[in-house]
Amino acid sequence: MSNNHNNSNNINRLGSLLVITAPSGAGKSTLVKRLRASLDELAFSVSYTTRPPRIGEEHSREYFFVSVSDFEKMKAEDQFLEWAKVHSNYYGTHRATVEEALKEGKDLILDIDVQGAAQIKQKMPQAVLIFIMPPSFEALSDRLRTRNLDTTEVIDRRLKEASLEVAQYPDFDYVIVNDDLDQATEFLIAVAKSERLRPYRIENKLKAILRSFPRD
Ligand code: ADP
Ligand code: 5GP
Repeated sequence: MSNNHNNSNNINRLGSLLVITAPSGAGKSTLVKRLRASLDELAFSVSYTTRPPRIGEEHSREYFFVSVSDFEKMKAEDQFLEWAKVHSNYYGTHRATVEEALKEGKDLILDIDVQGAAQIKQKMPQAVLIFIMPPSFEALSDRLRTRNLDTTEVIDRRLKEASLEVAQYPDFDYVIVNDDLDQATEFLIAVAKSERLRPYRIENKLKAILRSFPRD
């Protein structure tokens, strides 16, 4: 019975598109993992990329790892809602994945870069743009090196690009400084939960409540 109740609520709800952006190493993947573990009805859009998989990454879990020619073909077929060249590789968000999740009333997380976030805001103004800010350049540098997933050359390039990325924070709806991980997680959960309370997302539910009131 409670399942039916949830389902009907869900279909009546307009999902939020949560766009989460950060310079590499700021802790975005860690925070997104924690958000997904805490909130239900939350889907994650798996992007397509031409970057080779890192150790431990799996095709269709972290990314759909594709060749440059396959990516170009999908781009030509207009299969991407947005795409960008980031750190010399291509990344793209699959249009149909986003459309289907929102139609089902699910919230959907996009983990994309600043260029992609700007494209999404232009196409979908109701998207919620969240920027994860590292507490300092030094902390970002330490995290990238401690994570030990990228070569020194890749890390240096990402740190150089980080200066340009952090300057984009005014274009975002929310900025969460990821200093204390638990607090940053709480803030991210708070944003996702608050967005579910926007009147236009729960209009059917609100109209039903209003219908229960006497007319005159
Ligand atoms: P991103 O997805 O933004 O590239 P990750 O989530 O992989 O970053 O985090 C980079 C590294 O920093 C990881 O080793 C992670 O465990 C660590 N980290 C994340 N958040 C914090 C934090 N608040 N304090 C200290 N280390 C953190
Ligand atoms: P990484 O290679 O570390 O997984 O990701 C590098 C950057 O690419 C990150 O900033 C990540 O958010 C971004 N990214 C991942 N998927 C997409 C996507 O589909 N579109 C765009 N524009 N950026 C993406």
